[in-house]
Amino acid sequence: MAELAVIGAGYVGLTSAACLARLGNSVVCVDNDPSKVDYLLAGEVGIAEPGLPELVREGLSSGKLTFTTSLDPLRGIGMVMLCLPTPMAADGHADLSVLESVLGSLGDLLGRDGVVVLKSTVPVGTAERAAELLCRADVQVVGNPEFLREGFAVEDFLHPDRIVVGAADQEAGDRVAALYASTGAPVLRTDPASAELAKYASNAFLAMKVSYVNVLAELCERLGAEVAEVAAVMGLDDRIGPAFLSPGPGWGGSCLPKDTSALLRTAEHAGIDFAMLRDAVRANARQQAVIVRKIRCAVTGSASGSLAGARIGLLGLTFKAGTGDLRHSPALAIADELARAGAVLTGYDPGVTGRDKVGPVTVAGDPTLVAKEADAIVVLTEWPEFRDLDWAQLAAVAARPVLVDTRNLLDARALAGTPFLRTGVGTGKPG
Ligand code: NAD
Repeated sequence: MAELAVIGAGYVGLTSAACLARLGNSVVCVDNDPSKVDYLLAGEVGIAEPGLPELVREGLSSGKLTFTTSLDPLRGIGMVMLCLPTPMAADGHADLSVLESVLGSLGDLLGRDGVVVLKSTVPVGTAERAAELLCRADVQVVGNPEFLREGFAVEDFLHPDRIVVGAADQEAGDRVAALYASTGAPVLRTDPASAELAKYASNAFLAMKVSYVNVLAELCERLGAEVAEVAAVMGLDDRIGPAFLSPGPGWGGSCLPKDTSALLRTAEHAGIDFAMLRDAVRANARQQAVIVRKIRCAVTGSASGSLAGARIGLLGLTFKAGTGDLRHSPALAIADELARAGAVLTGYDPGVTGRDKVGPVTVAGDPTLVAKEADAIVVLTEWPEFRDLDWAQLAAVAARPVLVDTRNLLDARALAGTPFLRTGVGTGKPG
C-alpha cells in the first residue's frame, strides 16, 4: 500500500483521501483552510456525502488518514494527488493559478522518482506544464481525472464505472492504477492529453444531453406532445440511455458550467468551431428565462404581468437533489431573476441548513413556511421527498393554489384531492 498526500480537501479531495485510506493507504490530506482542517481533525466533514463522515472517522482512528494545513509533512513523499479547484477564469478558460502555485512548491518536497497525480479537471497540456513547474527530471505527472457525482461521492469512488490513467511513463501509470486495483473497475490507460480531454468531453456531453431535452420540452409544449413520454422512448434505446433526459431549470453546479466553457475555449484555441456545444450553453442560459416566463404566467396569468410584491415559495435551492452544494445552482439563478422582478422569496431545501438567507431567498426550516401565504410554489430541485409532502396542507396555507413544477417531479397522485393548478415542463396536461 502506498503512502501518499492528497492536496485539497473538498468534494473530490476529501472523498479521495478518505476512500484511499479505507483501501489501506496511508494518506495525509492537506488543505489551506485552517478551519476546515480543524473540523476534519475533529471527525466532522462539513459536506453532506453519505458514508464520508464514517470513513473520515475510521481513517483518523486507524491512523491511516491525517489532515494538515502545511506542505512540510510531504517532504520526501512518493506520491501527491492534486484535488485543487480549477474554476472558470474571467476569459472562460480554466483558472489554473491555485494548481500552478502548489505545483511550484512541490518540486522541492517530493521524494526521488515521485509521482504527481492530477485529479482536478484540467485542460489539455496541463500535465506537460506541471512537469515544467516541478522542474524535476525524476518526477512523473499522471492525469487521473475524477468522475464522481456529488451526493454519491463515496459510492462512485469505491465503485467507479472506469478509472482513467493518462501517463507518458508506464511505471508511473502502473503506480497510479494500483491505487484502484481493489475497486475492480476497468482501467483505461491513455496518454495525458487524452485523459485530460476525456473528462471535459464527458461533462460537455452530459450538458448537451440536458440542453437537448430542455429544448425538446419546449417543442413538446408547442406541438402538444409529452416530453416524459418522448424521453421514455429515447431512454430505452441502449445507444442513448435514460440518464440526463429529464427537463428542468437547466444544468449547473460546480462542474458543468466551467467545464463546458473551458472546452469551448480549448476548441477555439485549436481552431475548431464546437458550435453544438456553444448552442447547448446558450440553450441553458435561455432555459432560465423559459422557466421565469412560466412562473410569471402562472402567477399573473400573462407573460408580461408584474411580479412586484408576489410571494413565491421555492422548494429546492441546490443545483441537484442529494447535495448541499449551491454553487452555480440554476435554482438560485432563477431566484435572482424573480427577485429582480420584485418577487418576495422564501425557500426550503433539505440540503441547506443553518442559513437564514441564500442570495435573495429567505430560508425556511419547513416547507409549510414556504407555502404560507404564497402566491405560487415553485419546485426547483428534484428532491424525492417533495413528492411526499402534505400537499393538501400546503394548499391550505398558501394564498393561491398555484404550483410550477420545473422538474416534473409531482404527478397527479401526489396532488390528488388538492386544489393545486400545476404547470410542468414539456407537457400540455394540467397536473
Ligand atoms: P472544492 O472547492 O470542493 O475543494 C477544493 C479544496 O481545495 C477546498 O477545500 C479548498 O480549501 C482547497 N484549496 C484551495 N486552495 C488550496 C491550496 N492552495 N492548498 C491546499 N488546499 C487548497 O472543489 P472540488 O469540487 O473538490 O473540485 C476539485 C477539482 O475536482 C476541480 O478541478 C473539479 O472540477 C474536479 N471535480 C469535481 C467534482 C465534483 O463533483 N465536485 C467531480 C469531478 C471532478
